[in-house]
Amino acid sequence: MQTLNVELGDRRYPIHIGRGLLAQAALILPHLKRKQVAIVTNTTVAPLYLEKLAQPLRDAGVAVISIVLPDGEAYKNSATLNLIYDALLENRCERSTTLIALGGGVVGDLTGYAAATYLRGVPFVQVPTTLLSQVDSSVGGKTGINHPLGKNMIGAFYQPQLVLADIDTLHTLPERELAAGLAEVIKYGLIRDLPFFEWLEAHIDKLTALDTDAMRYAIYRSCENKAEVVAADERESGERALLNLGHTFGHAIENGMGYGVWLHGEAVAAGTMMAADLSRRMGWLSDAEVARMDAIFRAARLPLEPPGLGADRYLDLMGLDKKVLDGKIRLVLQQGIGRSVVSSDYDVAALRATLESPLH
Ligand code: NAD
Ligand code: MG
Repeated sequence: MQTLNVELGDRRYPIHIGRGLLAQAALILPHLKRKQVAIVTNTTVAPLYLEKLAQPLRDAGVAVISIVLPDGEAYKNSATLNLIYDALLENRCERSTTLIALGGGVVGDLTGYAAATYLRGVPFVQVPTTLLSQVDSSVGGKTGINHPLGKNMIGAFYQPQLVLADIDTLHTLPERELAAGLAEVIKYGLIRDLPFFEWLEAHIDKLTALDTDAMRYAIYRSCENKAEVVAADERESGERALLNLGHTFGHAIENGMGYGVWLHGEAVAAGTMMAADLSRRMGWLSDAEVARMDAIFRAARLPLEPPGLGADRYLDLMGLDKKVLDGKIRLVLQQGIGRSVVSSDYDVAALRATLESPLH
């Protein structure tokens, strides 16, 4: 097991990464205010992992309530949030009850927001079971739900007591979900960590094969990068925006195709290649660097051809993005591999060219 800390002063918390962590109640026990937890999970993850987590806790004398939600991004909404509140109230859970999120980013975001708001805040623990949630959504304290008018529009910054990333859970993850998580892993190398990108180029096949040592290192290094960015800029007034590399383009793809057709990480990979294309047109990235990016995403089995929606439709979709400032679309672009910048200092004609025919 490896451990790193997210340095947020008195809200500092550890992330443990390793095998067999679900069953190690001893990692959770010191963080409980009282021996009662509510495990929030979903109908897919519950049959796989709920008892692996719950039984050792019960054996240690902890009262365990389980709350099993329907599975899917479509359920990341206020109605599902209410199911969590209902169960907590019916079981008379108090401020000293700890919520445990067991699942991917959807369960983590919902549970975190429930924890931030139930009785004005109860402690929570993240047990992420997708690669994306282990390297991204469980780190950094963004919690929330979707609104019919926009994704992630209702939420709170709220930090967990602890994150347990159990690599063993990745073995049941569908291949597309694994690849989508790798897109976010690769992103950290691209935005701020050239040596990690080079390590990924050499080990990407081990990662797609779920090699334990390679996976533990990739998760550790990803969390380390995200934790550093978050510690420097918890509320996204500066550097944290770099984590959105590929996301403005990616959201346009997700939205334009209808949510759910492309997985988020798939859209981020294709969106990152669009950002690379624009960066290349601006002379900020070489053809060779674009080729390296293309090669690593392909090796991770990610789709890279963005749908041809036309520049006007893309601009429309991007204008709806929450990262728009003062009417200008600020984009995360590449100035070489390992160095991203947030910029509105690009040529609009080049942006239109990228949107019209990326990768040409
Ligand atoms: P997800 O939570 O929908 O999980 C993907 C699928 O895998 C689901 O069907 C899930 O039930 C299933 N699953 C989970 N673990 C499994 C396992 N071990 N074996 C088999 N199946 C498993 O998706 P995700 O990619 O984990 O997270 C996406 C969500 O995270 C989005 O809602 C996004 O907005 C959010 N997110 C939040 C942040 C943040 O900072 N809070 C960052 C990135 C993404
Ligand atoms: Mg993302």
